[in-house]
Amino acid sequence: MQQIIVLLHLRTSYFVFRKWFFMSEERTEISSLGEFGLIDHLTKNIEHQNASTILGVGDDAAVIDHFGKQTVITTDLLIEGVHFDLMYTPLKHLGYKSVVVNVSDIYAMNATPTQITLSLAVSNRFSLEALEEFYDGVYVACEEYGVDLIGGDTTSSSKGFVISVTAIGEVAPDQYVKRSTAKPNDLICVSGYLGGAYLGLLLLEREKKIFLETKGVQPDLENRDYIVGRLLKPEARRDIIEFFEKEKIVPTAMMDISDGLSSEVLHICKQSEVGAVLYEDKIPVHPDAKDFAYKLEIDPTACALSGGEDYELVFTLSQSDYDKIKDVNGIRVVGYVTEAAEGAHIITRGGNKHELTAQGWNAFSK
Ligand code: ADP
Ligand code: MG
Repeated sequence: MQQIIVLLHLRTSYFVFRKWFFMSEERTEISSLGEFGLIDHLTKNIEHQNASTILGVGDDAAVIDHFGKQTVITTDLLIEGVHFDLMYTPLKHLGYKSVVVNVSDIYAMNATPTQITLSLAVSNRFSLEALEEFYDGVYVACEEYGVDLIGGDTTSSSKGFVISVTAIGEVAPDQYVKRSTAKPNDLICVSGYLGGAYLGLLLLEREKKIFLETKGVQPDLENRDYIVGRLLKPEARRDIIEFFEKEKIVPTAMMDISDGLSSEVLHICKQSEVGAVLYEDKIPVHPDAKDFAYKLEIDPTACALSGGEDYELVFTLSQSDYDKIKDVNGIRVVGYVTEAAEGAHIITRGGNKHELTAQGWNAFSK
C-alpha cells in the first residue's frame, strides 16, 4: 500500500499533479487510434494466468471452463462524480480499485476470482496516456489477484468516465457462502480494520475544498498515508479465503464490507432471519484512523459502523471453529448472532445497548 502511494508522489504537488495530468503535453487523442486500435493497444500484452481461460480478448465472446467447479459472477458500475472524484483519485489507483471491489465480492462468496471483463465509457477529455495509466492499475490488480482480463466493451461518453467490471470466480461444488445462512449463537467476525477509508475520504474532501477555495495551497496529507491508502488503494481479503481453505473453515454466512459494518450485519440479519449483538470495544479501528477521527471530533466507532469502502469481510462462524481463529492476527470476533426476535444491537463501551441502524452514528446521538 505504502509503495503505490509513494509511487504517485501523493504528498508533494498532489492536486497540481492531478490537474496537470489532463493538460499534459504528451497527449495522444483516442480518436487517432479508433475503437479497435484502442482496444488492441490496451490489451495487447495480456498473458493468461488461469487454465480456465480458454479464449480471451479478440472474439465475440470469451470462453472459460471451470473443470467441474461452480462459477460465481458479480458486476459493479463505477461512475465519475458518484463513486470517485478524479480531482484526488489517480487513474492508476482507480484502475486498481475497480478490479479490487469486484474480486472482493467473489471472495465474499468464499470463491477464487479467475477472470474479469472491463467496460468503459470515456469522453475526449481523456487521452490515450490517461487510459494507459488506468489500465496500468488494472493490470497490477490482475496480477496481484491472479485474474485474467478476458474482454469488455469500449464506448464514448459525453462527459464523465464510467467503468463497469464483471468478475468471475470458481468454487468447489457447494462451498460458496451466502448471506442468508447465519444461525443463532454463531460468532460474528471481521477481518482487518474498519472506518479508515471513510476517514481518508473526509480528509481528501476537506483538502479539495481548501485547494479550490485558496489558490495554490497544496493539500496537507502529512502522516495520513494510512487513511488515504485505505480509500485510494483498498485490498480484497484473498488471504482470509485462503486461510479458510487451509483450516477447513466454511463460514456460515459472509459478505464484504462496502457500506459499513452496521449495514452489512443488518443484511445478514434480514436475509438469515436472525438478530445480532455487536460490542463496540471489539470493533477494530486502526490507530492512525482513530487519530484522525479524534482530530475531526467524530466517533471512530461511527466511522467503522457507517463509513464505507473498507472491503474487509464480515462473516459468521459456528462456535466450534472458535479455536481455529482466536489467535489469528487480522480476524476479530465482534459479536454473536441471536434469534431474530431479539433484534440487532450494539453494546457500547459504557455498557449501554443501542439498536443497530444502517446509519450507526444515529444510535449514539439519541
Ligand atoms: P463487439 O463488437 O463484439 O462488442 P468489440 O469490438 O467491442 O466487439 O470488442 C472486441 C474484443 O475486445 C472483445 O473480445 C471484447 O471483449 C474486447 N474489449 C472491448 N473493449 C475492451 C476493454 N475496454 N477492455 C478489454 N477488452 C475489451
Ligand atoms: Mg463491443
